[in-house]
Amino acid sequence: MHAHTIFAEWDEIPDDADDTALLAGGYRSYSCVCGTPLPTRMAAELHAVETDQCSTCLGSAVEEVVPGFTRRCTSCTGTGRRRMQLIWEMAYAQAEVTITVEVVRGVISRFTGPFSLSQAADAVRGTLGLRPGRMPVGPRVRDVLRELEGTGEIALISAPDELLRGASIVLYRDPTWQRTIPA
Ligand SMILES: [Zn+2]
Ligand SMILES: [Zn+2]
Repeated sequence: MHAHTIFAEWDEIPDDADDTALLAGGYRSYSCVCGTPLPTRMAAELHAVETDQCSTCLGSAVEEVVPGFTRRCTSCTGTGRRRMQLIWEMAYAQAEVTITVEVVRGVISRFTGPFSLSQAADAVRGTLGLRPGRMPVGPRVRDVLRELEGTGEIALISAPDELLRGASIVLYRDPTWQRTIPA
């Protein structure tokens, strides 16, 4: 076992729990095998960073979104390492510069009907001539599409794949949108 294996254990989650706090790591008790007190999520994240572990999954390589539902940590590409988290952050920053809102808007203006995240990401890769695996295209395109959804330019039309906490915390694997403003 790692000298600084950090544990996050669920507390009792009330029915009226704050979903934002829940997703931000609340309703958990944190501890490390080294015995350093970790009274808050912030303390746990700092301890993860100072022991070279990912501050999102605290080194476990998986994120437990709600009790019983885990997924591979996206911040550190499932490695649990702080180094990988920093590399991923730099790659994402590069993707932000390359894949602008204008690029995504231009690409989706060519879709006449509904389009999925993966179709939009493929179209962006094609348009920019990006080789697969060089840049986190999918996550960046997803974020831009969520932004355009927020401003009402496109509308989410697919149903969630998973309801993790009633309808308040849901998961979409490959969501589908449709443009609301004709080009
Ligand atoms: Zn420790
Ligand atoms: Zn991680």
